[in-house]
Amino acid sequence: MTLLERVSLASRTTLGVGGPARWFVKARKEAEILDALDWAAARGVPVRVLGGGSNVVIADAGLEALVIQIALRGRETREAAGAVELTAAAGEPWDELVGHAVERGWAGLECLSGIPGLVGATPIQNVGAYGQDVSQTVAGLRAVDRTTRRLVTLAASECRFGYRDSFFRSAEPDRFIVMEVTYRLRPGGAPAVRYAELARHLDGRGLAAPSLAQVRESVLEIRRAKSMVLDPADPNRRSCGSFFVNPVLPAGEAARVESLVGADAGMPRWPEPDGRVKLSAAWLIERAGFRRGERAGPVGLSTRHTLAIVCHEGAHAGDVADFARRVRDGVAARFGVRLAPEPVFWGPVGLDGGA
Ligand SMILES: Cc1cc2nc3c(=O)[nH]c(=O)nc-3n(C[C@H](O)[C@H](O)[C@H](O)COP(=O)(O)OP(=O)(O)OC[C@H]3O[C@@H](n4cnc5c(N)ncnc54)[C@H](O)[C@@H]3O)c2cc1C
Repeated sequence: MTLLERVSLASRTTLGVGGPARWFVKARKEAEILDALDWAAARGVPVRVLGGGSNVVIADAGLEALVIQIALRGRETREAAGAVELTAAAGEPWDELVGHAVERGWAGLECLSGIPGLVGATPIQNVGAYGQDVSQTVAGLRAVDRTTRRLVTLAASECRFGYRDSFFRSAEPDRFIVMEVTYRLRPGGAPAVRYAELARHLDGRGLAAPSLAQVRESVLEIRRAKSMVLDPADPNRRSCGSFFVNPVLPAGEAARVESLVGADAGMPRWPEPDGRVKLSAAWLIERAGFRRGERAGPVGLSTRHTLAIVCHEGAHAGDVADFARRVRDGVAARFGVRLAPEPVFWGPVGLDGGA
């Protein structure tokens, strides 16, 4: 492995803020990940795992840690009882994998087109969009368990997927490093058109029975209009996507929130199978008085997506956290609902005074 020192991390994240890593390894082979873990364990150095950097906020002070950037590549397929199992190394770019599946007519990932980042991160927060998430297709994954340094194979049921959540994110963060993920896809399967906005877009194109490729095109078009694909020419490009997850509340709480705005306000609400209700974080943010394009110095809300906090020239991680806290506290004051951030925070930065 090649160990580097004091490596800038800002350029390795989509927000483009944050200080350097004290130590840094770009791991192209599994053995390099194990060597890096051994190196860190021998010195008592904390380890952080970086994929495409599209869901992290890194402290301006940087990290007194070893950052392992996952650059494992490769994919293979296997036929399995009417399905195709597509296994991809953790460092494969996610959207290329989706494109690969769609081109071959394998259904299951098409609505997840255009999401930045790498394969290895997709199980961490159960990446999802437009009515699909990876819990619907992940068959299993291979990972290294940092507590034992052993390679393990985990079935989908062991990942304990939830809405933007998994065992890896909330139960045992930092315990596993994902090496490869297997997705079970449906050859010749119909695309998933479950989401009203996607259905309307396809309707607008006159596509009553769209192909996987047409669904991918529509998803990419919808996302582009919201600055939700990475585009170097887009002034809203420096974000980590949605900054807050949609809150899921007990039905009584959701009714209380609705009573604050009145039943005729058209509050978006989606019933969950367990009886709770998911509300729209974007809608709550707007109703709490925040506007798209609103800025506080070098950071602000995207002009095209209320949920995205965007960095501009001169922004620091501290500015992102301050602005996000203002939004979270504004929603709490108006509705008594505490929004939870979607990205992870590394080092002394966070909405509650820094981690
Ligand atoms: C414009 C934009 C749009 C987005 N849209 C969506 C969306 O529609 N839906 C959605 O769900 N997300 C979305 N995101 C968030 C983000 O793209 C996803 O969460 C993505 O999966 C993060 O991948 P990454 O490789 O960049 O992970 P990173 O940001 O590098 O890491 C994120 C977390 O995963 C961990 N991690 C990364 N790789 C591994 C690994 N191999 N093993 C163990 N842990 C690992 C990291 O330690 C960190 O905790 C969007 C982001 C942007 C910038």
